[in-house]
Amino acid sequence: MASESKAMETIHLDIASIREDFPILDQEVHGKKLVYLDSAATCQTPRAVTDALRAFYDKDCANIHRGVYQLSQRATDLYEAARGKVRAFVNAEEASEIIFTRGTTEAINLVASSLGEQLVGSGDEVIVSEMEHHSNIVPWQMLCERKGATLKVIPINDEGELIVEEYERLLSEKTRIVAVGHVSNALGSINPIKDIIRKAHRAGALVLVDGAQAVTHASVDVQDLDCDFYAFSGHKLYGPTGVGALYGKKDLLTSMPPWQGGGDMILSVTFEKTLYAGLPAKFEAGTPNIAGAIGLGAAIDYVSAIGMNRIAEYEQTLLNYATDALGAVPGLSMIGTAAHKVAVCSFELEGLHPHDIGTLLDLEGVAIRTGHHCAQPVMKRFGVPATARASFGIYNTPEEVDALVKALLKAREVFGL
Ligand code: PMP
Repeated sequence: MASESKAMETIHLDIASIREDFPILDQEVHGKKLVYLDSAATCQTPRAVTDALRAFYDKDCANIHRGVYQLSQRATDLYEAARGKVRAFVNAEEASEIIFTRGTTEAINLVASSLGEQLVGSGDEVIVSEMEHHSNIVPWQMLCERKGATLKVIPINDEGELIVEEYERLLSEKTRIVAVGHVSNALGSINPIKDIIRKAHRAGALVLVDGAQAVTHASVDVQDLDCDFYAFSGHKLYGPTGVGALYGKKDLLTSMPPWQGGGDMILSVTFEKTLYAGLPAKFEAGTPNIAGAIGLGAAIDYVSAIGMNRIAEYEQTLLNYATDALGAVPGLSMIGTAAHKVAVCSFELEGLHPHDIGTLLDLEGVAIRTGHHCAQPVMKRFGVPATARASFGIYNTPEEVDALVKALLKAREVFGL
């Protein structure tokens, strides 16, 4: 572990000064220094983002796209500039391929409803994986039920990796859509998404990638991946809650029917017929989360200034450190030991229910997530009702891993283990 600490020093990230960007981290809970290890649920927000939100409300707040007055034009410019930042961040070809949504869940529902309605019929098949978050299962299940289609599931192995040979067997001329997570929130596994996409395309299917857990840990290039859709949430990328984005290939988005109807998504409305706006407005009915989108843009500026590659490198070293340190805790077994993982550690501690672990750790100031992580099929696969999960972000340190381990050892003691 000493050598890991050494390696971390060689990654030139000034974590102490990064931590200063996140005022929330500087507090005590139950009289103990807060150790926040639940970034997979929601990342904390740097001052750069809250400053952008405040600046919008203090100086530029107005509705967008409709006003001829200067304030509205400024708000529109900021909102559209944020779209441009998302475009650059995922390397989409055009800004019109970026649709602002409430988050990953809404982005997936948009595709399942709009494209699903158009593309999926009776007897067709949609493929998801056993490690999906509920938000990348339920919308497809609802679609299949509506259409008389079948949901197929790619199984995972004991390490928490997709079994690619089984995936190949599932693909057929009946497959319309493959919806797979880039990174698992419950296990941390990084999926071979490029290969999955290539194989789906060869079978004539379209691919939606749930990128909720991926965008925060490494750079994403939708053109290189050649995915048809890519969904993610702002709050898992150090941005605000209630905003996210859907990337879609332009020709697909263009041919898809609108999802929700309302203001801003129309060219003209009469009682006889409504003509719809072009992209991206067609999919952004009603007043969007203007401030949220601007905040997401600020979050993208923030992580981009640090550098996604450096973030990925630092977090991998932290993951190695945490894996070793947790491995030394008696009775602890890691759930999700994929060869390629992000800094997410799901585990069980013999003799202790995950909820008890979470409660006892909280008393030590350590915030982790316990439960099924909105991935009940993963829990079923591993035969557990729930896990404890520590997940790391750019502000976490090896000392915080040590605090986690210390708190776990104390929890064992409390239970007489
Ligand atoms: N997919 C994955 C892999 C996730 O981790 C999450 C959030 N935990 C979601 C989808 C849903 O994201 P949101 O709640 O922001 O819509």
